[in-house]
Amino acid sequence: MSIEDVTKVRKELQRGFASKKTHSIAWRKAQILALVYLVKDNIDRFDTALALDLGRSPLETHIMELGPVLNDLRVLYDGVANWAKTESAPFSMAWFLMKPQIRKEPKGVVLVISPFNYPLILSLSPVAGALAAGCTVALKPSEQTPHVSALLAELMPKYVDADVVRVVNGAVPETTKLLEYQWDHILYTGSGRVARIVLTAAAKTLSPVTTEANTFAILGGKCPAIFDTKCDLRTFVRRILWAKFVNSGQTCIAPDYAIVPKSLELAVIEEIRSVLHEFYPDGAERSSSFSKVISSHSATRLHTLLQKTGGEIICGGKVDVEARFVEPTIVRGVKGDDSLMSEYLFGPILPIVTVDDIDEAIEFVKARDHPLALYIFSTDKEVQQKIIRSTQSGAVFVNDLILHFVAHGVPFGGIGPSGSGQYKGKYTFDTFTHLRTVLVSPSWLDIILSGRYPPYSASKARK
Ligand code: NAD
Repeated sequence: MSIEDVTKVRKELQRGFASKKTHSIAWRKAQILALVYLVKDNIDRFDTALALDLGRSPLETHIMELGPVLNDLRVLYDGVANWAKTESAPFSMAWFLMKPQIRKEPKGVVLVISPFNYPLILSLSPVAGALAAGCTVALKPSEQTPHVSALLAELMPKYVDADVVRVVNGAVPETTKLLEYQWDHILYTGSGRVARIVLTAAAKTLSPVTTEANTFAILGGKCPAIFDTKCDLRTFVRRILWAKFVNSGQTCIAPDYAIVPKSLELAVIEEIRSVLHEFYPDGAERSSSFSKVISSHSATRLHTLLQKTGGEIICGGKVDVEARFVEPTIVRGVKGDDSLMSEYLFGPILPIVTVDDIDEAIEFVKARDHPLALYIFSTDKEVQQKIIRSTQSGAVFVNDLILHFVAHGVPFGGIGPSGSGQYKGKYTFDTFTHLRTVLVSPSWLDIILSGRYPPYSASKARK
């Protein structure tokens, strides 16, 4: 798409919104259903595109994207009629005569910018939520997943009304052009660096923004997994290694690092070695269950971090930049100021930080920016509650990881530097919905309300 086309797309989406067809709930449901068919009819093509872009196995794609996106679409389809109903304000003796109501109105023409790591679900779930809310949408997928982005651009007009959803493919120039316009909402998912660019542009046009992005200021404000001595070690190590190495560590809520009490460290390491062998018996490099990192640039970045670490690499460490392969790597003895704690890793490297006790673990987390997710491995309810009470994060998950992104009925989003706003299910609908207050005041109420009119007098003030 050329830069000039961006302007045309925006005008067409504005016309689509002005037509008011998006106001009908039946129409919205039909569009969401069309997205379901878009996915279901083309599962093989998405499998292939995702394998080409991310070197992912189809099973991982089904677990992490296709199943969850179909579920998100079903939730929106089932919920929209109820969520869109006008609500009466809670009864109040002072106001009920004006029948105060809250209308759920679409915000208008919105923009969804998505990243490379889960290019299907992170594009289609927000788009479907915007459609559920009655908005028209421009979707800007990632240029780093060219096969998925091209497939979305090809399929979208075949399934969904072209006046209301448009895919704008391209890179920085196209996104920059999109961001010159005022949008009624922008939902941006991606890196903290680009989040700052999006927020700066949005400030100029006064476009409201939801940022699903890590804009960390303080080193190491990334998703920690805290181990307690009371824990089901075998199960928890399997869970953390799956969550860390799925999609080759390129999951925004992957556990970034583990905090382990000194007394448990050797047992954890032994278990890690055993589980890694179980996951990749012939090594990850030859395994069809292990994805590639997105680019050789990303492989080089991770390699540099590993070369600079002051910790000890106890498993993995191999990087093949050409092949975009980074071996599942565990590093022990990592300190707070280590290279591996200096940025969001977003790759298959798990640093282990050792602490004396849970209090030290809590202090380590609190000294950093609020993470998008915090993981606790403990069978002790008091320890679980103590960590939850003492910290802040987008979400907290006890004894498991990352599945909260697909859990039914809960919002997804960060806090402070790990993002602003939330979405998923009804929360996506809410994100793209304007709560419009409506009151109707009858003329005869002036019997009571006329005290507001000048001239003001002491007798009126007493009423
Ligand atoms: P990215 O920020 O590089 O790209 C995201 C989008 O921004 C893409 O569509 C891209 O075209 C656009 N973009 C890139 N540079 C731009 C520029 N200079 N001006 C305007 N637009 C620009 O992110 P990515 O590399 O595709 O994705 C990985 C990042 O996404 C990671 O940092 C990860 O943490 C984050 N992420 C966050 C969440 C979350 O919910 N918090 C979820 C998934 C991914």
